[in-house]
Amino acid sequence: MTAKIIDGKSIAANVRHNCRSRVELLKRSSGITPGLAVFMVGEDPASAVYVRKKIQACADVGIQSHKFLFSHSDTQDVVIDKIRELSADPRIHGILVQLPLPKHFDLKAVLGAIDQEKDIDGFHLYNVGGLVVGSTVFPPCTPYGVMLLLDNSGVEIAGRNAVVVGASNIVGKPMALMLMQREATVSVCHAKTRDLAQFTILADILIVAAGCPNLITGPMVKSGAVVIDVGINRLPNGQLVGDCDFEAVSKRASMITPVPGGVGPMTVTMLLVNTISSAMRSANVANADFALADL
Ligand code: NAP
Repeated sequence: MTAKIIDGKSIAANVRHNCRSRVELLKRSSGITPGLAVFMVGEDPASAVYVRKKIQACADVGIQSHKFLFSHSDTQDVVIDKIRELSADPRIHGILVQLPLPKHFDLKAVLGAIDQEKDIDGFHLYNVGGLVVGSTVFPPCTPYGVMLLLDNSGVEIAGRNAVVVGASNIVGKPMALMLMQREATVSVCHAKTRDLAQFTILADILIVAAGCPNLITGPMVKSGAVVIDVGINRLPNGQLVGDCDFEAVSKRASMITPVPGGVGPMTVTMLLVNTISSAMRSANVANADFALADL
């Protein structure tokens, strides 16, 4: 078997096309331009690249972005004050804080300062709780993008065995909750899981988000499984790879996402979706929530 490639770039391009139309419609019908505030603290080069990509993506669909840069020596209170100010600003519909924050910052306090109605990353405890009971308004972008890849690829979820490798707050845990919400039977593995292969081999849907190149080898994958590789790893030779041995896993899986070009383009795209949904809600537009089926 050779796996069909799930083309994240092309699916993301379709969603962005849809985003552009919704922004145009919102501007015409209510005079509102969706606004996103992006916070970055410190000079982490990888974070700077991500922030640049997010701002370009906003421009691409007509969202007005505003960048707020703070130095490593700025205090947490200064950052929180600015977040609170923008939380009350009606021109801003989404606020995101680029992670990681410097170690001396209290992540919970900073994320907790974001108005839950503008928490487009979905990291505020209110939205995390909403995810647990199946009613969040801001699904976290990476797992939200994975769900869209699965739906666009016609993957049946209800009743299937889904295994999530990785249990972080931003990818693995929300991913597991979203799959449970869609009635998959979900196992979550992490660094202390004993004999990872005994779990992965049972997966009809295998989602890997550990940050370890070649963690998943061919024999660990059930024949015909759908494999979503969230991992992004830079090898010493500069090559960008995921967490799966792509060649070997492609021979066992029925579908697989490449790295790059799989989940990555979806993450930023879902940030746009959440920002536009927020702006539509603020304008009281009916059906403001982007139903997955619409995208
Ligand atoms: P993270 O916070 O470091 O979490 C990694 C998770 O993987 C942890 O739960 C860890 O277990 C688990 N893990 C680590 N080594 C493992 C192993 N050998 N076996 C099983 N589980 C293992 O990372 P993250 O933020 O979730 O990101 C994960 C990967 O996805 C990274 O490569 C990151 O770059 C990538 N990523 C990609 C996108 C995208 O848009 N494509 C977005 C976000 C993240 P413990 O909990 O036990 O430590």
